[in-house]
Amino acid sequence: MDCFCGLNQLEEIKIEADMGAEPIWCQKCGANLELVDVPLSPSLKNKLNEWALSYGKWIDWKEDKLKPNGMKMEDEHNKIGESLTVKVKEELQDVLNVSFSPTKIADIYIKKAEGAN
Ligand SMILES: [Zn+2]
Repeated sequence: MDCFCGLNQLEEIKIEADMGAEPIWCQKCGANLELVDVPLSPSLKNKLNEWALSYGKWIDWKEDKLKPNGMKMEDEHNKIGESLTVKVKEELQDVLNVSFSPTKIADIYIKKAEGAN
C-alpha cells in the first residue's frame, strides 16, 4: 500500500482527530489519508468517521473557550480514539503499524485562561 503522497510506501499510520480532517494520517510524511483508501471494515470506518466528527465538541468555538466539562469530554474522546485504534490494529496488524495520538486542545485552552488572569 502506498501513501497517496506518492513518495512513501505506507508503513505506519497514526490515528488522530483534527478539525475537518480524516482521522488517519501517514506517520512518515504527515499526509491526511482518505478513509476510503484504508483497507478497514465499513463498520470500523463509520465509527472512525463519527469519532472524527465529534472532535472539538468540548470547545465553545464561538466564545473560543473550553466548555465547563471540556477536560472530561476530551478525555472521553481520547478513550474512544484509543479503543478504535485497538480495533484498527486488529484489522491491519499484518499490513501496517498503527499508533494513536491523543488530542490535547483542552490543555491549550486551560493554559490560555491561566495566562489571561
Ligand atoms: Zn506518506
